[in-house]
Amino acid sequence: MKQWRWLYPLTVALSCLVLVIFFNAPSRGSGTLRVVTEPTFPPFEMQGEQGQLEGFDIDLMKALAEEAGLVAQFQSLPFDGIVTALQSQQADAAISGMTITAERAQTVSFSRPYFKSSLAIAVREGNDAITSFEDLEGKKIAVQIGTTGAKQAAKIPGAQVFSFDSISFALQELANGKVDAVVNDSPVTLYAMKRANLQGLKIAAELEAQEYYGIAFPLNSPNIELINQALETLIADGTYREIYQRWFAGEPPELPLVAPALSEAEAGEGSTFNIVKLIPSLLLGSIITLQITAVSVLLGMIGGVLIAIARTSRYKILRIFAKWYVDFFRGTPLLVQIFMIYFGLPALFQQIGFPFSFNRFVAAVLSLGMNAAAYLSEIIRGGLESVEPGQLEAAESLGMSPTKAMTYVVFPQAFRRMLPPLGNEFITLLKDTSLVAVIGFEELFRRGQLAVATSYRAFEIYAVVALMYLVLNLLSSRFFSFLERQMNPVARAKKAMAREQTT
Ligand code: GLN
Repeated sequence: MKQWRWLYPLTVALSCLVLVIFFNAPSRGSGTLRVVTEPTFPPFEMQGEQGQLEGFDIDLMKALAEEAGLVAQFQSLPFDGIVTALQSQQADAAISGMTITAERAQTVSFSRPYFKSSLAIAVREGNDAITSFEDLEGKKIAVQIGTTGAKQAAKIPGAQVFSFDSISFALQELANGKVDAVVNDSPVTLYAMKRANLQGLKIAAELEAQEYYGIAFPLNSPNIELINQALETLIADGTYREIYQRWFAGEPPELPLVAPALSEAEAGEGSTFNIVKLIPSLLLGSIITLQITAVSVLLGMIGGVLIAIARTSRYKILRIFAKWYVDFFRGTPLLVQIFMIYFGLPALFQQIGFPFSFNRFVAAVLSLGMNAAAYLSEIIRGGLESVEPGQLEAAESLGMSPTKAMTYVVFPQAFRRMLPPLGNEFITLLKDTSLVAVIGFEELFRRGQLAVATSYRAFEIYAVVALMYLVLNLLSSRFFSFLERQMNPVARAKKAMAREQTT
């Protein structure tokens, strides 16, 4: 019987694999259309109360697919990943409030316009200093990465632009008082102000230029024609109007057959991509990454030592607190912790009438440091406990005070044993810094992401970003091996002996 024991985990693993494949494999029958969307853009696409996708785009896409004799199968993707997903044929179409621009039209093909929109500036109520785009000069602006709003904000002289993965974070940032304005599609900002729990915001101005949303396809996809025809039918038979009025008040506006942006001479802007030009910005990003890592490790070490002491304390309450701390920070995802600290805490304090907000850097190193402290405390505790108690007793019997015995006898030995796991933790932390991109921090990963959002050259840019992380990590592991050698008395003695022999 014993020799068959391995069969059990193997069966479980295989069953999991089958389940994963079964649930994830897009059933690509000839009639299915794999449609991607970024569902945090209400009222166009969002998650309903029961977790289902809903919104104007979703209703329209379902009706269009049905009219075209297809079945729409939705998948979620971050907005800045949609164009590249279409480019690499991972999806057949995208409906995501996406504005038809000449730049995008070089990489994907668009349907005819299906919605008329415009950009708006949102500010906090009571801010009367901003009433036009000119007033945004030198101001702090939050945007969603890879959007037309982000592009517009980048043109404002002297403005500091912070980009977020979803517009809801950018608006939360404004409500929390961290930025002066948000530049975003007006229907979405209006909806967020009316329906979501975001009080105290107002629209300061709208950009005159109209934007038209289109459904995007891989270049020259045969589905474009089908969907265009379906859209024409739905507009003519009143279905479009009916869907429009489910989500917006009033009559739907007239839609042109071709978006004006495509006939304007904006094309060609995206074609001057050169990866070499990006290197200085990415190098600066790596320096920022190193800075966050260094400060977080320092905080983590201090916290880790304190928690390790608390865990071995005589006082039960301290032991319980330390155990609870480690369980919490190890047991919840770092990403959730970052969101809780940066967006959650200020929002909570605002609700109870005590407005405060975190500096981005402080929030980043605090969440990484607090998380690292949980792991480091275990490494430190393990290291200290690995030194036999006899050593402490021996040192004390030689007349050393407990602190001296700890400093000169126990700790040096424990530290040497802690070094390999500490090195691991450092490398993990260095990679985890990429998570703070979600709070608009422009470290190495976010700089790459921003470049991809405008150039759509995902592979080249992420390859360079990965290479930079690799170099940073190889250098750090070299440093830790060096430290290990330095701390190893045997290796050090051998080295000294070798030196003596050569002289
Ligand atoms: N309409 C904007 C754009 O295309 C924003 C779209 C979105 O965030 N889903 O860039």
